[in-house]
Amino acid sequence: MPEDTVFDRILSGEIPCDSVFSDELCLAFRDIQPVAPVHILIIPRKRLESLNSSTEADESLLGHLLITATKIAKQEGLKDWRAVINTGSEAGQTVFHLHVHLIGGRALKWPPG
Ligand code: 5GP
Repeated sequence: MPEDTVFDRILSGEIPCDSVFSDELCLAFRDIQPVAPVHILIIPRKRLESLNSSTEADESLLGHLLITATKIAKQEGLKDWRAVINTGSEAGQTVFHLHVHLIGGRALKWPPG
């Protein structure tokens, strides 16, 4: 069993967050250190360390996270935005509870570092 992460503590309500969306499958809240005017994290309630630990059984959950990101982007008035899922420490993942970054509100460069 993976250890609790800060996101488990946010899900349980132990650590407060600036929530923008919640349903039975996921929670979305503003990143504490935003890299753009809009920077929201969408996390599954199910504990999954990263995409590397997902299986075909998670297909609809992963789709739900992206559809939710799209709904939130519309709510936030974004037409152009980016969804990022850092997978593994060398890819920049620091919290080992799968999450989608929704980033927008400024011009974004490509490729990322
Ligand atoms: P990662 O680097 O794993 O892809 O992204 C983790 C993100 O979680 C970072 O952007 C970081 O700022 C955010 N984060 C870490 N701890 C907290 C927290 O306690 N509250 C919120 N809202 N965001 C956090």
